[in-house]
Amino acid sequence: MRKQIAAANWKMNLTYQEGEKLLDDIFDAGTSLAPHQHAIFAVPYPYLIMTRSEVAEEFNYHVAAQNCHHKKSGAYTGEVSVDMLQSIGVHYCIVGHSERREYNAETNAMLADKVNLCQENGITPIFCCGEPLDIREAGTQNEFVAAQLRESLFHLPAARIKGIIIAYEPIWAIGTGRTASTAQAQEMHHFLRSVIADHYGKDIADEIPILYGGSVKANNAEELFSSPDVDGGLVGGASLVAADFTAIISALK
Ligand code: PEP
Repeated sequence: MRKQIAAANWKMNLTYQEGEKLLDDIFDAGTSLAPHQHAIFAVPYPYLIMTRSEVAEEFNYHVAAQNCHHKKSGAYTGEVSVDMLQSIGVHYCIVGHSERREYNAETNAMLADKVNLCQENGITPIFCCGEPLDIREAGTQNEFVAAQLRESLFHLPAARIKGIIIAYEPIWAIGTGRTASTAQAQEMHHFLRSVIADHYGKDIADEIPILYGGSVKANNAEELFSSPDVDGGLVGGASLVAADFTAIISALK
């Protein structure tokens, strides 16, 4: 079975102590994962080492960075490189979250560089894509999202694309409480898998986890994840509450 993943994106929330307590509360709940299920915590940089130590005790729980720089090293004050992440044992990194695309002017070409650097350092990119509201209202979301994949991922050889996790996150659903319907999520995920299949073949497309992100909550996760092409979720707000994220992990197929 394809990997099923619940990924928490804490964004710029929680103090170190609050983050540590949240992890403790989640692990105290004792939610165990099947071999094909994974939970990933994308935490702020200063909490990566603490979180890595906490997840090391748990089966199939992992830590992720929320971003990395698109250059290998150099005079980029305040930035964090992929080499740095690798050197502290981080094996996952969110790439291209819509908030970074918007507030940090990240382009598809820049994200292709980040994907390359991550993979060269043994870090799995969680590649985010998704359309803004005006594109959804114009009905051109498929073309928009397919172009994001093409321009940031389709330079990869087949052996490399298999190592990507994709998160489809319609921007109009992020942090708004307005979730895509189960049908809308399944339709887009099925379309994305077909775009990958056209380029790399069906076997490879069938291996790649595609997560849904956008107001996933404890009370809608099970329905969203039940769709055949939805392989879990990337979760913002609800990942900050232990009981809610635990319920979302439990909703994985
Ligand atoms: C996100 O940050 O990727 C996200 C989907 O946030 P939320 O769950 O709060 O909509």
